[in-house]
Amino acid sequence: MDSARSWFQKFQPRDRLRSTRKKDLSGSGREEPQPPMSAEEASNVTKQRVAAAKQYIENHYKEQMRNLQDRKERRSILEKKLADADVSEEDQNNLLKFHEKKETEYMRLQRHKMGADDFELLTMIGKGAFGEVRVCREKTTGHVYAMKKLKKSEMLRRGQVEHVKAERNLLAEVDSNCIVKLYCSFQDDEFLYLIMEYLPGGDMMTLLMRKDTLTEDEARFYVAETVLAIESIHIHNYIHRDIKPDNLLLDRYGHLRLSDFGLCKPLDCSTLEEKDFAGGDSAHGASRSDGSSAPKRTQQEQLQHWQKNRRTLAYSTVGTPDYIAPEVLLKKGYGMECDWWSLGAIMYEMLVGYPPFYSDDPMSTCRKIVNWKSHLKFPEEAKLSSEAEDLIGKLLCHVTQRLGSNGADEIKVSTRGLEE
Ligand code: ADP
Ligand code: MG
Repeated sequence: MDSARSWFQKFQPRDRLRSTRKKDLSGSGREEPQPPMSAEEASNVTKQRVAAAKQYIENHYKEQMRNLQDRKERRSILEKKLADADVSEEDQNNLLKFHEKKETEYMRLQRHKMGADDFELLTMIGKGAFGEVRVCREKTTGHVYAMKKLKKSEMLRRGQVEHVKAERNLLAEVDSNCIVKLYCSFQDDEFLYLIMEYLPGGDMMTLLMRKDTLTEDEARFYVAETVLAIESIHIHNYIHRDIKPDNLLLDRYGHLRLSDFGLCKPLDCSTLEEKDFAGGDSAHGASRSDGSSAPKRTQQEQLQHWQKNRRTLAYSTVGTPDYIAPEVLLKKGYGMECDWWSLGAIMYEMLVGYPPFYSDDPMSTCRKIVNWKSHLKFPEEAKLSSEAEDLIGKLLCHVTQRLGSNGADEIKVSTRGLEE
């Protein structure tokens, strides 16, 4: 884990990387002209670096002291146990020697800087905006993990470095059964690597594509587990913002875990202005106000259309906007409530087969989301129970009325009520 901690410390700040770069990215070999750094900027950068180095060294020594203390405690516990037990002096000495040997081995492993070479790469399980996810095996132990490999240049280009930093820390910090565990992280010149637990159950997107729709009982189970997962990150004051079926993974027992923190692929809506969103929000003509000329489809036709596009959307660099809350799209400031909106959209998809604002192109989907009042419809063929419609309606609504805004208990209480 030592290498994990030093990972981001080694990360070069963007400005520095640019100014020390020998070649531009087009490979022409010409150096890009860089604006000179002012003395004040330079001194701020230096100050930041000094603070980071100080923090790193302090943490490092604090941790060493704690490790030493823990080691002493383990030894004294063993000594006490041996003294209380009926063990010969020779056996006692041997057991203590064995214990020390194990401790030293443990320390050696802790010091070992992990690298990509320590893993044998197996099948590819996912491909995303920044890189790929593969099953891998640690060579020395044979343990299987999932390795997420992120291209540094791509993250820098998209200005995602801060997100990745903060959110990798969250992954390492939050110890919850509802979140994919991160074991360690390291880097080489080109990539950052996250070594996570491998969840062999696949993701919710694949499950939904295989099954078209879930029964209400099945959906209840997954929605409940997603509520717990969202709650566990909100408790740490963290907003996911990108909750969607591709990021809900299943473990070997079929339990759900949330993954993919901060490596979100925000759709660029900067070309749309609010008036675009506001237009067409009239009470009638609702289904046409997205401006698309697509013919009205039956539930079955819409489902087939959605499924045909689904993987392409998931692997595209912009991602799918289908689960994003309106306040996030409008960039007017948002809070944790946006994750509960996404849950509503996922629940709708589980029961209907496609997400509530699905449209032929992402921009029309965005318009529909922002004008959700006139676009949220439950197809009759889907035969949703009134309770399910009610819950979805309380999640897919204006942020001030949204269930969950005052904590996950609001949802837990409301679903409990439904089952009584
Ligand atoms: P991206 O940022 O590209 O969306 P994700 O972390 O969501 O990256 O990973 C992409 C896909 O890889 C997921 O949808 C899932 O199918 C698979 N995947 C990711 N992490 C794991 C894991 N720990 N175990 C199993 N599959 C995983
Ligand atoms: Mg993802």
